[in-house]
Amino acid sequence: MSAVVPAAGQGEAVPVAEGSAAQWSDRYSAALMNTFGAPRRVLVRGDGVYVWDADGRRYLDLLGGIAVNALGHAHPTLTAAISAQLGTLGHVSNFFATPTQVALAERLLALAEAPDGSRVFFTNSGTEANEAVVKMARRTGRPRILALEGSFHGRTMGALALTHKPAYREPFEPLPGGVEFLPFGDLAALEAAMADDVAALVLEVVQGEAGVRPLPAGYLARARELADTHGVLLVLDEVQTGIGRTGAWFAFQHPDLGAGVRPDVLTLAKGLGGGFPIGAVVAFGSRAAALLGPGQHGSTFGGNPVAAAAGLATVGVLERDDVLAHVRELGAGLAAALAAAGPMVREVRGTGLLLAVELTAPVAAHVADLALAAGFIVNPVTPSALRLAPPLVLTADQVAPFVAFLAALDPSADPALAPEPPLAPDAPKEPS
Ligand code: PLP
Repeated sequence: MSAVVPAAGQGEAVPVAEGSAAQWSDRYSAALMNTFGAPRRVLVRGDGVYVWDADGRRYLDLLGGIAVNALGHAHPTLTAAISAQLGTLGHVSNFFATPTQVALAERLLALAEAPDGSRVFFTNSGTEANEAVVKMARRTGRPRILALEGSFHGRTMGALALTHKPAYREPFEPLPGGVEFLPFGDLAALEAAMADDVAALVLEVVQGEAGVRPLPAGYLARARELADTHGVLLVLDEVQTGIGRTGAWFAFQHPDLGAGVRPDVLTLAKGLGGGFPIGAVVAFGSRAAALLGPGQHGSTFGGNPVAAAAGLATVGVLERDDVLAHVRELGAGLAAALAAAGPMVREVRGTGLLLAVELTAPVAAHVADLALAAGFIVNPVTPSALRLAPPLVLTADQVAPFVAFLAALDPSADPALAPEPPLAPDAPKEPS
């Protein structure tokens, strides 16, 4: 059992009652809507790449809050920046500007190498950033929006309309209309669909929720050409891949991913605040930047100075400590080590510290359970793949025990890890 206690030197924490993990879990189920299923653990504290549960057990956080905790947990610079801003000016309405908000917008424009006339709109999450994209697309006056099969862009109605997975969409139909899904990576389908009545083409440079699936080489460059020909907005959703995750500030800048193909609109969230909620839309050039005018969009909290301070601190530490170079080096080494980690690994996909370990059988959920019991947090992103999106400050020494854990998994000793036996040719088949 453990109480939530204040960190040293940070004043008195609001008291939180003691309780075991089981007690907190029961209270969670009784008090929170069941949108996420039962919690895997109840976490009370974090430090760097580790978190602790309510029963005092430590875990190596290889998911980083799903690609959010870029600097790990309780990073002193981020904590200090948030505290200082909150202690100075915590919130103002968007009738007013704050220096932190302006400074973060300028930093993002510079990092994205956005041309003159580019502008930023701040949100609180990724889905809200994509929601703004849908409104920008509508403002072009064109009826069609193209997205890809396997896409994930968020859960609010506009972003959900861009999200492909039927299980996420169907309970909420009718969704905003005009969205068409193209087969993933299919250039012929893209060429056939692009036309002068298309408002926007919305892509992830690497599809995260689909199991860390990069666009095929050359796809984005051709998409850019077609977007230019037809005056279509090329929108890149870098909510998951942005802010250093792949080893470049943005995946579109990474030589092996976007190879420098510039979008018209870029959406960000997740890693931007290092754990503090913030999202952003970066509109490249004056055409995209002018699509939303006064009164046409807004947000009470978007651009909040504390969130902006978190963004500035996160970006500042990544830059100061040359973390992107570290991500490139560690990511390459880790991918190679994972690919050689025993009989359960079929292949490793991904770039930088957004990796998927494709297993030899559809047992990712079971492996994630075993990993959790052994003190590692990973995500079974598809039935057969584990996603790793750890803090960008993770080190090789810290992650080595997970590689050893994976290597030690033995399908001959644990039948739950073994692939399904193939059907004998004359075996009765499931009705289809
Ligand atoms: N876009 C992408 C590519 C994502 O991965 C996510 C979240 O996983 C979202 C949008 C939605 O972001 P949020 O959960 O902050 O609304």
